Amino acid sequence: MTANIIDGKAIAKQVREEVAEEAAALVATGVTPGLATVLVGDDPASHVYVRSKRKACAEAGIKAWDHDLAASTPQSELLDLLDQLNADPQVHGILVQLPLPEHVDEQLVLDRVDPAKDADGFHPYNLGRLLSGDRIVAPATPAGIQELLLRSNVETSGAEVVVVGRSNIVGKPLAALMVQKGPGANATVTVCHTGTRDLEKHTKRADVLVAAIGRAKAITGPMIRPGAAVIDVGINRTDDGLVGDVDFEAAREIASAITPVPGGVGPMTIAMLLKNTVALARRASSAAGSVLND
Ligand code: NDP
Repeated sequence: MTANIIDGKAIAKQVREEVAEEAAALVATGVTPGLATVLVGDDPASHVYVRSKRKACAEAGIKAWDHDLAASTPQSELLDLLDQLNADPQVHGILVQLPLPEHVDEQLVLDRVDPAKDADGFHPYNLGRLLSGDRIVAPATPAGIQELLLRSNVETSGAEVVVVGRSNIVGKPLAALMVQKGPGANATVTVCHTGTRDLEKHTKRADVLVAAIGRAKAITGPMIRPGAAVIDVGINRTDDGLVGDVDFEAAREIASAITPVPGGVGPMTIAMLLKNTVALARRASSAAGSVLND
């Protein structure tokens, strides 16, 4: 069997076009969706991500404000900036690029973003809504994975979905999404991590296997159930270039569908960030209040 390649680039383009239409509809009512990105320090990978996010905003008709701060910026200054952005009615979404420098308390910063402007869906309030099945926005990468599965007709209802990795930005929120009752979810979910006793035992029974580990080619052919759909979230820079967490060449002979790296999950993350921003702008323009008042 040779797996279908799930073309994240093409699906992300579709989503971005839909978002552009929604943004244009909002502009027609006098509201221009706006996203403020905050980047602290000079991590080259973060600069690349933020640049492409800003470019995608422009293409979708979303106004972008760029705040690039020096790595030495005191935490208090960063919090002050977030307070200003929270108070600015033109800003509908705020994205704080992670990781932050060592001297900054990441959780404190994420908590400071108004949940009504939380474009990345990392605020505990939004994570709680996600868990309770009443989401406003979901973290962009897990939401992008769900969208990829839906638009590639990969059935998740009743499926065994095995997620390897339990980070707060990918593994845990993805598990929370997949376990909900509804389309693109309703799965039986297993989350694996370094404490998992027999990883292969779990991966081998996955109908949908998601690798969010951060280790090049950690998922090998024998760990995959024939016919499974494999979603590779990993981005690892190696001497052979950019590779995922899955041994792609081996996996494509076993799986029924697989995302490539690059060109799989990555483009979806940006598309979903734009979708979140427009959703927050629409919400702000109709409700004119904090989501906490819902
Ligand atoms: P983290 O490093 O935060 O989490 C990695 C997870 O993998 C942890 O839960 C860890 O377990 C688990 N893990 C590590 N080694 C093993 C192992 N040998 N067996 C089982 N579990 C293991 O990573 P992220 O979730 O932030 O990112 C994962 C990957 O996805 C990275 O390559 C990252 O670059 C990429 N990424 C890609 C995005 C995209 O848009 N495509 C967006 C975000 C991330 P434990 O908790 O026990 O330590």
